[in-house]
Order: sequence, then structure tokens, then C-alpha cells
Amino acid sequence: MPAPRSYRGRFAPSPTGPLHAGSLVAALASWLDARAHGGTWLVRIEDVDTPRCVPGAAEHILAQLASCGLVSDEPVLWQSQRCGHYQAALDQLVQAGRAYPCGCSRSDIERALLARGLNRERHHSAVYPGTCRPDQGGLQGRPARAWRFLIAPEQAPVHWTDLALGAQVQDVAREVGDFILKRADGLWAYQLAVVVDDAAQGITHVVRGADLSDNTPRQMLLQQALGVHTPQYRHTPLVLGENGEKLSKQNGARALDLGTPLAALNAAAACLGLTPAPAHDTPSALRAWTDEWAARS
Ligand code: GLU
Repeated sequence: MPAPRSYRGRFAPSPTGPLHAGSLVAALASWLDARAHGGTWLVRIEDVDTPRCVPGAAEHILAQLASCGLVSDEPVLWQSQRCGHYQAALDQLVQAGRAYPCGCSRSDIERALLARGLNRERHHSAVYPGTCRPDQGGLQGRPARAWRFLIAPEQAPVHWTDLALGAQVQDVAREVGDFILKRADGLWAYQLAVVVDDAAQGITHVVRGADLSDNTPRQMLLQQALGVHTPQYRHTPLVLGENGEKLSKQNGARALDLGTPLAALNAAAACLGLTPAPAHDTPSALRAWTDEWAARS
């Protein structure tokens, strides 16, 4: 696929709670990168994992972003309204022989791994053993629970260059295995939704937190299988909490106090190695950081 011509970036929060210091860093970095390239910046609400979504959180995030002067250049896209597109992508993958139904429960997977002498304890997350792969006999009469992406048997490790982290490699077949596209509870998996939407929105540059870097090669394999363009990736530094752990909504990161947006933005900018804003208003601070970002990229 030829690369789209003009820069299009995005910030794609999951509305599982309000923005925190870490997510503001990703939002600011993606906004600055888009502005520094004279590009378009979009916001996409990733609300497909409905059990984890908090009512009102999306609206709250949009208001927090707006108070920081970060406003989507086009109407906000809501993933919960795009299920038909995810189904079409799954259908395309099934037709191409790159997706298959899986009837395994979590304990089936653990049993299969143990039978192969692989202890889940030693392998942080279970690599799917391929029980329901079409060439292993498929569902064998069991009902389909989920849908998985079939990693080609000859799939070589994926190499890519992250604009911040440099050269990266991941052997997806060995380290991740055939991953979920549609979950047993009927919900669309993040990997599929993000790839379909990045393609539909013509995203050329993905700027997001380093905790998501590990997903990139799965997304690249999906892009190749769907015949869509692969954006450039830049993963920004994580904000660590007092205990040295990654700050996240899950470990109770405090919501940003956006009564003082410039202070919150200054903290995010410091995390990105930018000069503290001498300006007293948010628009001039954003302009100064855009120039600084453009000068170094
Ligand atoms: N929705 C994801 C999150 O909030 C981010 C997805 C992405 O930027 O690719 O963690």
C-alpha cells in the first residue's frame, strides 16, 4: 500500500477513567508531533472493551484535553460505533485463511501447555498452543468461543524501527502466538480494532506510550494480512509512580487536576524533555513546545 501523503496522527484513549499524568504525556506528544509536521491530529475513543469502560469517562477525557488546548481536528471517532467494520475485517481475514475460530477455554490452554511441558509460571502470558488451528483439526466439534489470527508458519521475527526507541524485533509466533481478534465474550480485541481504525483514519504516525510498544508487531502482521498501510511508530517515555511502577489507571493513578492545565502540561512536557514553558497561557506554551519539537525532529 502506498503511504498516505500528509501527516495524520491520533490520540486513542480507552475511557476506563479520567486522564492521568501518563496519558497526558502521550496526548501531548502525539499533538506536538502532528503540529510540528503541519499535520492533522485526531482523537479516537477506544470504548470497545465495554466492561472496563466507565460511564462519563470519555466525555471527561475530552473535556480534560480541551482544557489543555488539545482538540481533535476532525469529529471524534468512537470505536463502539464501528463494530461492522471490525466484522468486515474479520470476514476478510477468514476468507484469506488468516483467522480461525477457537473453542479453548483458559484452562484448556493451560492444560495443553502443561502437556507440552511448558509451565505457565515461567512464561508470563500463555502462548496459544495452536490447538484449534485448521491444520491441527480445528474445533473438532466444540463450539467456537473466540477468533484468532493465524500467524503464518513461515513467519519470520518482525523487525521495525521505532522513531524513539530505535531498532526493535519480536518473534511474534514464539513470544505471543496466534492472538485473539474477537473475544469469547463477543467483544472485539484491541489489536483488530486499532488496526482497522488506524487504517480507516489514514493514520501515518502513531505516537503513544512505551507500554504499548510490544503490540506493534502484532499490529504490523494484521496490517500486512489486511493489505493496509503501516504507520510509523514513536513510543514515548512512561511516567513512573512513587513506587517506581508504571503509572496507570489500574494502579490508581490520580486524575489530573485540570484546574491548572498549564501545570499539568508542564509536567508532561518535562517528561518529554521539553523546556518548561516561560509562557503563562496554554496556547503560547503549546506553540513554544511545537517549535522545540520541530527543531529536534
Ligand atoms: N486505547 C489504548 C490505551 O488507552 C491506546 C491505543 C493506542 O494508542 O494504540 O491504552
